[in-house]
Amino acid sequence: MRDWPLWTLRWPALVYWLVVDFAALGVVTFVIVDTPTPTPTDIGRFAAVAGTAGAVIIGSSIYSHRLGETERNPWAAHLCYLTAGIIALPPNLLVLLLFGPALHGVLTQRPESHRWLFTLCATALAVFATRFVFGWSEPSGELPMMFLGAVVLLLLRSGLIALGLHLRRPTAPREEVVGEPIDVILGIVAVSLGGLMGCVAATMAIHTLIAGPPMALLERAAQLPQWRRSAQRDAKTGLSNAVHWDSQARAELGKGRSDNRSMAVMLMDLDHFKRVNDQVGHLAGDAALAAIALLLSATTRRGDLVGRFGGEEFVVLLPEASPEVAEAVAQRMRHAVAGLTVPTVATDGQQHVLSGLTVSIGVATTERFGYELPDLLVAADAALLAAKGYGRNLVEMA
Ligand code: GH3
Ligand code: MG
Ligand code: MG
Repeated sequence: MRDWPLWTLRWPALVYWLVVDFAALGVVTFVIVDTPTPTPTDIGRFAAVAGTAGAVIIGSSIYSHRLGETERNPWAAHLCYLTAGIIALPPNLLVLLLFGPALHGVLTQRPESHRWLFTLCATALAVFATRFVFGWSEPSGELPMMFLGAVVLLLLRSGLIALGLHLRRPTAPREEVVGEPIDVILGIVAVSLGGLMGCVAATMAIHTLIAGPPMALLERAAQLPQWRRSAQRDAKTGLSNAVHWDSQARAELGKGRSDNRSMAVMLMDLDHFKRVNDQVGHLAGDAALAAIALLLSATTRRGDLVGRFGGEEFVVLLPEASPEVAEAVAQRMRHAVAGLTVPTVATDGQQHVLSGLTVSIGVATTERFGYELPDLLVAADAALLAAKGYGRNLVEMA
């Protein structure tokens, strides 16, 4: 328990996540104690909703396993049948429906199981709050109420989760905290389909099966943001890959030109990195690259664009930085890398703590080189070469 990754959270996040987790536990306990035994009709509806959802999720898991997908976002599907449950089931059977995402979290090995638990608990709170809005013992089937319920479910769930993610990492980009526009669309589709499914389950339970194929389509569509992200990210470091960084940087430089903003591009290359690979192995080298990527993201501000340029080369665009500020940021990064220690396993299988890594950085600013990305990169590269020539572990301004 002491080595749970939960304890690595910053304390405001830790307190908030625990409050959400325990609040959900409290609500679920209350619901189980408070709700009367379900009737056979309720059990029939539950079987129809859970059976349809189970078939879709298991089928889709097998399919995505065969495709070799490592990361999946099953929340759109979960949200869909939970919405159906809010409309058609008594609260205690709704608790049983929450076993779907809970089981999913247990069965799929995750590096951050506490995050899954937090998302599950935030979802549970939003689900029961929505049920409360609908009418606790007799949910309303009126259209305006259904609309209000959908709004409450989506906003409350995403608000609870977004606050948790923001507290966990205040510098996290907006898409990571509140999601992308496609996530909003997926949420709306999920609750709409769930609403239809719930109405059908409440009247003719067996017809709920018809919701299976559209739910399967929703499940597939929910992977779109994941696919796009993996096409944009570098798998080893999680940073933007060179192609994505290039298009982001061009867009930002275009905006900077029209605002006449002072911007800077820095190119950095690890010093004597080949030696690290030769002495401790390529896996240790990879761990060092990942640790440096994390460090760069942590030492830059929101809006700064950090990317992996090539092998052990990183690139950063500072969208608002005078030459003096850019130099100070580069020096800060250089110091941060020099102070980094990376626990790794060497080729002989022994634990090895990598330290003493250094980086050389070339910086080019729009004040001298204008807003064309190739010009800035050429200038930053020349400055980087100069830094290497002067002895490495240096920052050179172009
Ligand atoms: P310097 O830059 O200081 O001149 O020396 P260097 O040894 O770092 O030389 P260079 O930048 O030319 O070499 C890059 C080395 O980085 C070669 C390769 O072994 C290593 N490298 C590149 N990409 C990766 C990677 O993804 N993983 C690992 N482990 N090593 C990589
Ligand atoms: Mg290199
Ligand atoms: Mg190098």
